[in-house]
Amino acid sequence: MYDPVKRAEDVARIVCRGDLRKYYRFRPARFYGGIATADCVGCCLRCVFCWSWREVVRPGAYGRFYSPEAVAERLIRTARKKGFERVRISGNEPSISREHLLKVLERIPGDILFILETNGILIGHDETYAVDLGKFKNLYVRVSLKGTTEEEFSVLTGAEPDGFKLQLKAIENLYRAGVQVQPAVMVSFSSKENIWALRKRLATIAPKFKDIEIEEVALYGDVEKRLQKAKMTPTSR
Ligand code: SF4
Repeated sequence: MYDPVKRAEDVARIVCRGDLRKYYRFRPARFYGGIATADCVGCCLRCVFCWSWREVVRPGAYGRFYSPEAVAERLIRTARKKGFERVRISGNEPSISREHLLKVLERIPGDILFILETNGILIGHDETYAVDLGKFKNLYVRVSLKGTTEEEFSVLTGAEPDGFKLQLKAIENLYRAGVQVQPAVMVSFSSKENIWALRKRLATIAPKFKDIEIEEVALYGDVEKRLQKAKMTPTSR
């Protein structure tokens, strides 16, 4: 087991250089009704169902360094060209390079919504991160919870169970900082009872968080093989 905050520091030493961050792809994507996407390299978790596993496990081997200016410029250019109203950083974990992320956000015009897809670990660990993000009105944060309990989180990510508390804390910190935030939950390995218990737990932050966005495992690439190796079977609903 590993400490995900410590892992974030270790990975940052590989994928961040000052305010530069490693990316492996820029693309228009169909999600959210059309969104310009920059796929970054490096994550502080190792989810068994991760669809961009290659960059998670070998962050040194993939991608190139880009400045915040270059990333923002590519995102805006793609959005304008395709008529999209949304942009995002996806692929791995955008929050690992705080300085880079904030500088990209500063460059996104107010008529474009930036969707931050994050596991929330670092935002839960340091509430000032949420305060910094609260300065951007065109920001929407989707915190992707890995399972519904501390135990499930640990089985799915291989990380220490308390990392799940950091994920929940991120939602609380963001909500308090006035950021638009939505919890999404990977439920493919969870019982109905555990999902219900999580809804109640989230409602203690704010009643609206009882309405979670459901995520199901997608068997892209070698995900199925990894699940078989880990002897994990998605729950049928
Ligand atoms: S948090 Fe996301 S990018 Fe990181 S390992 Fe999990 S699924 Fe992959």
